[in-house]
Formats: sequence, structure tokens, C-alpha cells
Amino acid sequence: MSVEAVIFDWGGTLTPWHTIDLQEQWAAYTRVYDRLRADELAGRLFEAETAAWARARDHQRSGTIDDLLREADIEPSGQRHDEAMAAYSAFWAPHTLIDPDAPPLMTALRSRGIKVGVLSNTLWARDHHEEVFRRDGVLDLIDGAVYTSEIEWTKPHPEAFRAAMTAVELDDPAAVVFVGDRPYDDVHGAKEVGMRAVLVPHSAIPENQKGHVEGDPDAVIDRLADLLAVVDGWSRA
Ligand SMILES: [Mg+2]
Repeated sequence: MSVEAVIFDWGGTLTPWHTIDLQEQWAAYTRVYDRLRADELAGRLFEAETAAWARARDHQRSGTIDDLLREADIEPSGQRHDEAMAAYSAFWAPHTLIDPDAPPLMTALRSRGIKVGVLSNTLWARDHHEEVFRRDGVLDLIDGAVYTSEIEWTKPHPEAFRAAMTAVELDDPAAVVFVGDRPYDDVHGAKEVGMRAVLVPHSAIPENQKGHVEGDPDAVIDRLADLLAVVDGWSRA
């Protein structure tokens, strides 16, 4: 079965993994939003985010940043919120840079007529992700993307993978290769719906985000650039 699409995970796959202090991330927001209550609000947001990732892990239920803010009694609108979100985005900016292997890889896949997709477990809105991809010059190399903040489910739920297939206008999972850094969310999830799965095993996945089972990848690669030979091999087979 030839390969008609490659769908990538985002964090730790298209962007090299960085371990982030999740409480500090929220302090970047809360110091702008309400300086006097910054620590208290950052603590609440950290707790809300930890609970959101546990819901994703155990029940594959998705969430959004706005959900977390509301749980911390912050209304996610208005000028103060916009300025705080800008500080939050600035905190993340150095940690979201595209892997230098990714643009030439995406270009090579597309030149073979293979579609490029993205499926990310994320609390961020599409706009934030697209801004990051635009900054790094890859937005136009992506044929379709699903951000779980826009749907009900997270990986490894089959509906998340089906949504990503729909986004690249394919309906046969056997023609899809999924590439990710997480044995549970990415590899197990992709294999369950009948895709081939490639693992990029360089991320320090937080203990409380690890899943309950690990999928068996069809290939393991050292770096993204190695994916092309794997896909070419499958396309010839
Ligand atoms: Mg990842």
C-alpha cells in the first residue's frame, strides 16, 4: 500500500522537545494579568492544566486555554487578558521553533504527491499554532491540521486520528503514516486505527502524561530527515 499522507504530531516531533516549567509558563501570564495575585493565579492555572492533561490521558477529553482560565476565575477576554496572552506567547516562542529537518522533509514529501498533515494534542487555539508555523515558514507546507482544542477528543482516541485523516482528505488509514514522539498518544493511537506509526523517541515525556499502554512502532527514526527513506521504502514495497 503506497503512502498518500504523512501526519505529524507537533510538540516533541515537529519541534524538538524542551522541558517546560509549567507553573512558570502561567506566571508569565498572571504577572501581566494581575501582578498582586500572580503566584496564586499561576498556581490555580497549573492545577487546572494538570487536571486537563489527566483527563486527556485517562478519558481522551480535550480542553482549551480558555477553559483553564475560566476554571481559575479569569475571564479570557479584554485588553488585560490580551496583554497577558502576549506575554504567555512570548514565554513559549523560543520553545516552539520548527526542527530544521522539517521544512525540507515536508517539501520532499509534497514533491512526491504525499500530503502533509498535523494532529496535535493541544490546549492552544488554531491561531496560535498557525502563527508559530507562519513564523517558521511551514504553514504553507501543511495540507491539513487538527488541533484537539477544536474537537472533543485527544489522541489516542480514534476520532482524533479520523479527524486528521479528514483534514488531509483521505479515508484509508493504510495509506497514512503517523509520526510522533509518544508511544501511547501517537504510536498506539495511530496503530489502533490502522495507520503505520513512526516513533521519534527523543522527548522526556512527563511521568504524569505517560499513557497506559505503548504501541509497537513500524519504524523508529533518529531524526526527522530519516523519515523520507522509510516512506520511500514503504512506497516501493
Ligand atoms: Mg508530541
